[in-house]
Amino acid sequence: MSKLLIANRGEIAVRVIRAARDLGIATVQVYSDADKDSRAVQMADETINIGPPQAAKSYLDIEAILKAARDTGADAIHPGYGFLSENAGFADAVADAGLIFVGPSGDTIRLMGDKAAARAEAKKANVPTVPGSDGVIGDMQEAAKLADEIGYPVMIKAAAGGGGRGIRIADSAEEFLSLAPQASSEAKAAFGDGGIYIEKVIERARHIEVQVLGDGEDVVHFHERECSLQRRRQKVWEEAPSSALNENVRDKLCASAVALAKSVNYKGAGTIEYLYDDETGDFYFIEMNTRIQVEHPVTEMICGFDLVAEMIAIAGGAKLRVSQDDVAAKGHAIEVRLNAEDPANNFMPFPGVVGELLAPDGPGVRFDHMLYPGYAVPPFYDSLLGKLIVWAEDRDKALLRLKRALGELQVDGLATTKPLFEALLESEDLRAGKVHTRWLEPWLENNLNRIKQKEGSNS
Ligand code: ADP
Ligand code: ADP
Ligand code: MG
Repeated sequence: MSKLLIANRGEIAVRVIRAARDLGIATVQVYSDADKDSRAVQMADETINIGPPQAAKSYLDIEAILKAARDTGADAIHPGYGFLSENAGFADAVADAGLIFVGPSGDTIRLMGDKAAARAEAKKANVPTVPGSDGVIGDMQEAAKLADEIGYPVMIKAAAGGGGRGIRIADSAEEFLSLAPQASSEAKAAFGDGGIYIEKVIERARHIEVQVLGDGEDVVHFHERECSLQRRRQKVWEEAPSSALNENVRDKLCASAVALAKSVNYKGAGTIEYLYDDETGDFYFIEMNTRIQVEHPVTEMICGFDLVAEMIAIAGGAKLRVSQDDVAAKGHAIEVRLNAEDPANNFMPFPGVVGELLAPDGPGVRFDHMLYPGYAVPPFYDSLLGKLIVWAEDRDKALLRLKRALGELQVDGLATTKPLFEALLESEDLRAGKVHTRWLEPWLENNLNRIKQKEGSNS
């Protein structure tokens, strides 16, 4: 591989450029009209415009991206996360054009990116799944019968869903029969695929996921991350390792992830997501993300590997450069997602121009972001500006370090989620690790004043 085109934007584009440069690979950054002044465009060796701001006409336009690769002579494409990263047709088109796709094959994405199909693969590999339907729902009445057997509440999920979207909860058969068709037509509109399936709702579960890397033959895991702090089923705060697991469960969880990835000859970086019931010690597979994830840095901080560089090397034909014994986890890492949103105002998106910017620094601190003073955050995309990641010897020290780093961070001109994290650091439950996926939302309602007060002391 000699020239890598980045088919993405924002902080992940910056992250991929850095990894490529560390590997001595030249970079091409594509950009929409809205991103011509982005940090990734400023950093890349070459840049090329791929269309107007609307993602459908730029970052999601397969033809435009392939043409950009041809015009610049790139021989590989990194899809980042979101956009086309889990689009099997895109992976196929890249391969058909004679280029390297930095990720698994289109066939693997088809198998594991379809959430209903992936459940079947997990079952085959003896990985426990959430009780639910076998594959997508055909007949609604049949599905309602199954939901009765499973017991309400049940979750209705889009097979092609992601980013917390396309999920509904039904509390009764009546609700199920009215929500399911609605969910299906919404999934069709949002993901181009109306397939839905059902799962039992696991109450008070924790979200725990395992990072894997495969080279098509061997698979190595990089331990787990916990992402239980969620709003609208989107992660806002992630940690590694999880504070909920004992060594026995941890070993079983990581082994099951490796078994599943091996069973599909997984090639590239991937994440196997689970729900974990810390009362019973049971875990259940929910999905696999066949790409690099937003929260990969917490794993890099505890394991000491550059996962993005490794996935690029594997795509370029390298075998895994590490064996499982080389991957030790050390200390504790926490990541918080800095979004251009006002946490005191129902997380209203807050595009605007960055004023003064002070980035946190010092021992154990990493700030992966796309900001610079004067940068105008465009209103067209995801509100993620960057991620603040801290590492320390243990969780208590990491919490202290997060407080210190947030104190150093100053982003003028925008509302951000910084005050949310300052307020969260005062939560006894969170400090004690007593959280689950439905913990954050009620906490937000009960702590609005605390967030407002933090916001006030920042401005
Ligand atoms: P992560 O675990 O990496 O946070 P998410 O599922 O939250 O994964 O997705 C990361 C990014 O990808 C987010 O910006 C999200 O909005 C986007 N995304 C995920 N799945 C899809 C999808 N099917 N279609 C469009 N965007 C998606
Ligand atoms: P996405 O593809 O949007 O990331 P996931 O299937 O990974 O969707 O689920 C996102 C989140 O929704 C999980 O992290 C969890 O908080 C919640 N969730 C998903 N499935 C269940 C379930 N069966 N029971 C309870 N919560 C669930
Ligand atoms: Mg998920």
